Amino acid sequence: MKFLQTALNGYKTNQYKRRKILKKTAVNYYLLAKSNVTGLWATMYNDAPYGRKLYDAITQQVSNSSSRCAYCQDKVFHGANLNIDHILPASIYPQFTFTKANLVVACVTCNALKSDRDYYTLQNPGRYYPNSSNNWQCFHPVHHVYAEHIDRFVIQTNHIHLRAYIGKTSAGVAICTNLLVNVSEFEAKAVANPNVAQAINNLNTYMAKHCPNKTQALKNLISAMTTNI
Ligand SMILES: [Zn+2]
Repeated sequence: MKFLQTALNGYKTNQYKRRKILKKTAVNYYLLAKSNVTGLWATMYNDAPYGRKLYDAITQQVSNSSSRCAYCQDKVFHGANLNIDHILPASIYPQFTFTKANLVVACVTCNALKSDRDYYTLQNPGRYYPNSSNNWQCFHPVHHVYAEHIDRFVIQTNHIHLRAYIGKTSAGVAICTNLLVNVSEFEAKAVANPNVAQAINNLNTYMAKHCPNKTQALKNLISAMTTNI
């Protein structure tokens, strides 16, 4: 609740009544999350005006902490390729939908490829988010330091832009195997065909602007593009 309150403080309004409704909305979402209700992130986005204001405030708060994707380390930009990722997927761990330690900035590609996959498979985590000393089996963007677990290489010329990731620890290897290999492959396939690359870019931009909570159809489309380009 503390995080929601902090995010809310970023929303400037002098109108006491509006602030009161916003606070009530935040408490309501917090309690629903702790009761394991799923789909709240999407519900909040579509719940204009107050749910959406809260959603925007959280997005702003999280994106203030970094301008790079927590997984592939590419630059992210508001309205272009920036998404908020739930490290432990909200569909599996709904109690952490609004937990600060579970929210990071991710690029559209990583967010779409990661989707609802659970790389962590925590046993009965309960209501409280596991802390940094937890034995995380996979790289955790908030609790781990990137450079200690992953080496990132980028090769760029006039014609190619390729990325490679090497895990330095078992947690680093796990995120490479689970996600970053697919991210590199996705980009390599995309740059091999400029028309497809442009189409993916257009789609990503559209999704970032209009569909932060991608529908299943869009997720399937991205998935199909990843495997069948
Ligand atoms: Zn990324």
